This record gives sequence, structure tokens and C-alpha cells, in this order.
Amino acid sequence: MLVLVRVQSRALFFGPYFAVNNFMKLFGLILLAVGLVPVASCQSTPKNMKPENFSISKSEEQWKSELTPEQFRVLRQKGTEYPGSGVYDQHFKPGHYTCAGCGAKLFVSDRKFDAHCGWPSFDAQSEDSNVIEHVDYSHGMVRTEILCKQCGGHLGHVFNDGPTQTGLRYCVNSASLNFEDAKK
Ligand SMILES: [Zn+2]
Repeated sequence: MLVLVRVQSRALFFGPYFAVNNFMKLFGLILLAVGLVPVASCQSTPKNMKPENFSISKSEEQWKSELTPEQFRVLRQKGTEYPGSGVYDQHFKPGHYTCAGCGAKLFVSDRKFDAHCGWPSFDAQSEDSNVIEHVDYSHGMVRTEILCKQCGGHLGHVFNDGPTQTGLRYCVNSASLNFEDAKK
């Protein structure tokens, strides 16, 4: 407030040029301050995202011995599979998709659609969902990461550009999923 008053008084004294100049400086400072808040708040993994806070908690060595190298890289190291390479990208059989790490139910086939992006895409979680969301600031972007609620395994990201009524696109790595056929 004090800064604003000083800027205004200087603006009156020096005329319109300084008014614009000071306004731009002040505007820049506000933008900087607003921008720093989320950056500062994501310097470390939030407490509720730490492995020990999930109901299924295993050592990295345990996970490594139970998962394939690609599943370990995606689920436990937040990797991303190469687009179009996953087994469930063009897979549209009826059934449900579970977490490849722990078996928790995540998505059902009737919410799956072809987003032409190279990854399995869903427009909603299943009703008894085990998907949780977390703001992800990695790679210079702000995205919403999706994880398994039971084991904390990385699934992918959810975006607000879905083509269906929900407007959502859950973009999931095939490596994070297993499929259970409805007929079985
Ligand atoms: Zn899981």
C-alpha cells in the first residue's frame, strides 16, 4: 500500500511517462511475487505424497524385484512411456484397468476413448476410484499428476482438454496399468 501511494505521488509530480513506467515496474513485482508462491511451495515432495504415507509401502528394491524395468521406471520414477508404444493405447475391450503396482481399481473401459495422443485416455475415473491428483511443476510446466491412492505409483497426468462432457483427459501410461477382462 505504501509503495502504491509513493508511486502515485511520484507519478503526479513527474507526469504521465513516470506513471506508466512505475506502473509497469509495480506490475512486474506483483507478477514476480505471485509467481514465486507456487514455486516456493513445491521445493520438496509434499508430506502426504511420501511413500510411507501410502497404505502399500515398499522399498525401491522390493518394487524393482516385483515390476518389469519399464513399470518400475514409470510407476516408481515418474517416467513416461514413448507415445504409441504401450499395450493399452489402442485397446478397447470391455473390462477394467487396475494399478500395475498394487492391483487397485483405477478406470473402466467404457470411459476410455482414443485421444490420438499415443497414451491410453479416459474421461473419468471409475466410481470406486483409487486415483489421486497432485500438482506437478516438473519440466517447466504446471500439470496435474495422477497417482495410485494405494501405492503412490505414478500413472500419468490429467488435462482439461477432454472432448467429452466431463472435459477431462486422463492420460495414462500403459506400463502403469493391468487389464481385467469383463468376461472373466
Ligand atoms: Zn497402486
